[in-house]
Amino acid sequence: MSEDGNRKEKPKIGRSLFSPRRYLIFFLLIAFVVTTCFLLFLHFLEIRAEDVHKAALLTFGNVLLLSFLGATFDGIRQKYTVEKPVRQILDATQRFTRGDFSARIEQRQDPLRHNEFDVIIADFNKMAEELSGIETLRTDFIASVSHELKTPLAVMQNYATLLQAPDLPEEKRIEYGRAIAEASRRLSELITNILRLNKLENQTIFPDSIRFNLGEQLRECVLSLEDVWEQKELDLDIDIDDVMLNGDPELLTLVWNNLLSNAMKFTGPGGLVGVTVKEEEQWAVVSVRDTGCGMTAETGRHIFEKFYQGDSSHSSQGNGLGLALVKRVIDIMNGEISVESAPGVGSVFTVRLPK
Ligand code: ADP
Repeated sequence: MSEDGNRKEKPKIGRSLFSPRRYLIFFLLIAFVVTTCFLLFLHFLEIRAEDVHKAALLTFGNVLLLSFLGATFDGIRQKYTVEKPVRQILDATQRFTRGDFSARIEQRQDPLRHNEFDVIIADFNKMAEELSGIETLRTDFIASVSHELKTPLAVMQNYATLLQAPDLPEEKRIEYGRAIAEASRRLSELITNILRLNKLENQTIFPDSIRFNLGEQLRECVLSLEDVWEQKELDLDIDIDDVMLNGDPELLTLVWNNLLSNAMKFTGPGGLVGVTVKEEEQWAVVSVRDTGCGMTAETGRHIFEKFYQGDSSHSSQGNGLGLALVKRVIDIMNGEISVESAPGVGSVFTVRLPK
């Protein structure tokens, strides 16, 4: 890069905060004022002109020397207590604005000697930590989105090429056509979920809060998945009370559909899925449990992260955004979600919503 370019990126700070010239003007001014006052004082005492001259010169010289010594000492002190931290802060903010999110400022160890600069430095380091976290999340998110988009697209491209082969048997044509349809369904589901999540993360006003029967909503969600539980011959254990709730029913349908379809997806044929809806003081409590594959504690720690899929054997049936969406909706409703699970035993998801 050219020297000019470098200068543009990092502006040089040529002038010191405490220039000697400014000090000199300041000393002269003080010496002049003090000497004039002293002369006036001597004049009132009617002292001889010769002695007054001597005294004036002596006073001027002494005041100049004293203020010079004092200011030199003060300048050195300021250099270390003000100029050094200011330069460190400027240097770090400049690195930060150039996109170097690893920029941090070294903090003084002894807290007893901390001043306002140490508070600014601590706040800067905290802000830098937060921003670099967001940046990592953003780049991870983009990497995951591109990967997830590319997979079904590659499947569609491959099968579309295969379909072009002459004399393709009828059953192969049907098989490839189905694979393309399935990949495009996954792609469309993925895009819908990304858009939903993006909307929920940026939305702060939720006007669709109405009073509705949560129990009825859960019953409808279970019924809408009839095909799945019938096909897998799952046992259902339903204990749903009529609980009235204020909230956005459309958003909550997303939550129940995700929890229920996960419970059914991760439970083998003949297993059990249970749903309860109860009222506990000011809370509506919904729990969805299953006797499926369960998960390890390590998986449990990550399940609400975007694109996280703990169980690779079912990865083709989802995109790892379901529980991220669930968590976001619950957060918006000021609710809580917890999970208890053990590998090979099953899982229980419990949602608590303020009524
Ligand atoms: P997806 O279901 O698309 O993989 P989710 O965000 O819904 O994505 O779930 C994330 C991960 O959480 C799953 O991949 C799985 O490992 C784990 N998980 C969610 N629900 C269950 C469940 N009921 N039983 C076992 N594991 C589950």
